[in-house]
Amino acid sequence: MEDKSKLRFVQCVCTGECPGFSWLVPDLWKLINRVRTELDVAYAVVHPQLCVKDGDAFLEDLLQEGDKDVKYIISACDPSMQKKLFKEAFNKKGLDIERQLIPLDLRATGGRNMTIEEAFKRIKEVVEKASQ
Ligand code: SF4
Repeated sequence: MEDKSKLRFVQCVCTGECPGFSWLVPDLWKLINRVRTELDVAYAVVHPQLCVKDGDAFLEDLLQEGDKDVKYIISACDPSMQKKLFKEAFNKKGLDIERQLIPLDLRATGGRNMTIEEAFKRIKEVVEKASQ
């Protein structure tokens, strides 16, 4: 069996109602299917709202205690906001958020006018950089 990729991809959609992400919702599954089948990630998942209680519970299960090689690409809000929001979850599992969280904000690189193809290209760049 091929070695599993050390990259995990999580897309948060901010409930799907937030204007910053509503552009993504109609083609969300098309995008996620491309990420999980075409890119070097172990898997790609979607969470509706990562920074609330069930998001904390999800991260608690997702983050692997002591696994220093895994990197978590989280596509959500602003990177500095993500670091604040997810710091506790990473700390709890003894992970280095600066090195193991790869925060991506699709809104910042094209905003509401980004096409799914452009979003995929942006994610591909981030995945390729993270796998080096
Ligand atoms: S983590 Fe960021 S993008 Fe996701 S629901 Fe919270 S504020 Fe919105």
